[in-house]
Amino acid sequence: MSGSNHKIVISARDLTKVYHMGDVDVHALRGVTLEVQAGEFIAILGASGSGKSTLMHIIGCLDRPSGGEYVLNGEQVSHLSRSALAGVRNRFIGFVFQGFNLLARTSAVENVELPLIYSGLGTQERHRRAREALERVGLADRMDHHPSQLSGGQQQRVAIARSLVNKPALLLADEPTGNLDTKTSLEIMDLFHELNAEGMTIVLITHEADIGAHARRRITLRDGLIVGEEGTR
Ligand code: ADP
Ligand code: MG
Repeated sequence: MSGSNHKIVISARDLTKVYHMGDVDVHALRGVTLEVQAGEFIAILGASGSGKSTLMHIIGCLDRPSGGEYVLNGEQVSHLSRSALAGVRNRFIGFVFQGFNLLARTSAVENVELPLIYSGLGTQERHRRAREALERVGLADRMDHHPSQLSGGQQQRVAIARSLVNKPALLLADEPTGNLDTKTSLEIMDLFHELNAEGMTIVLITHEADIGAHARRRITLRDGLIVGEEGTR
């Protein structure tokens, strides 16, 4: 081993995104350069319309930039086809959204197993990993509950377990506390702190400064540009 070179998970250079709306071009990102190392806990802040979700979609390989370069976990992904992007997404990224996005008529443990369906793992192993992920988020006793039988905070924990079950390099959370009360939001942030302490790289997108304050490094977007950075790696 030579030195302590940190692994780079996200290396984005000069990202631009233009949405074409009829005759109008919306410049949602105007040149964003961002590097995130393995093990960081970073927040992307900014008012509504500043470009946070657009950036998240590109970082999460849900969409491609109009210009610039994006290297994820060492792979150049800026120019991949949609299906190739889907493969990268499944291997590297766990998503957590504001709305939980759980299947309603499906138990917690089955929801968590979903990302493993294409993994080639057998049923027993999928089940074992899903149980392990639910235990990790403190829901060992709720494995067989359906989403409607769980509180909002518990549903978000199931969604976090689902995002972890593939052992992603990166956890990407877009307004994960947007539907939760203050106390439950803090519980979810506590969980993020624990996961980060175990080595998980976390990118948290939020418009709420007090939620963003949980991250060690904070970046602020305005009108598609990074206008501020504070904190440390
Ligand atoms: P935020 O998540 O910070 O609210 P967004 O990334 O959603 O910001 O939006 C940034 C800008 O891009 C806004 O002006 C928004 O209206 C526009 N925008 C976002 N998505 C689309 C889209 N699919 N088509 C057209 N314009 C879009
Ligand atoms: Mg948004």
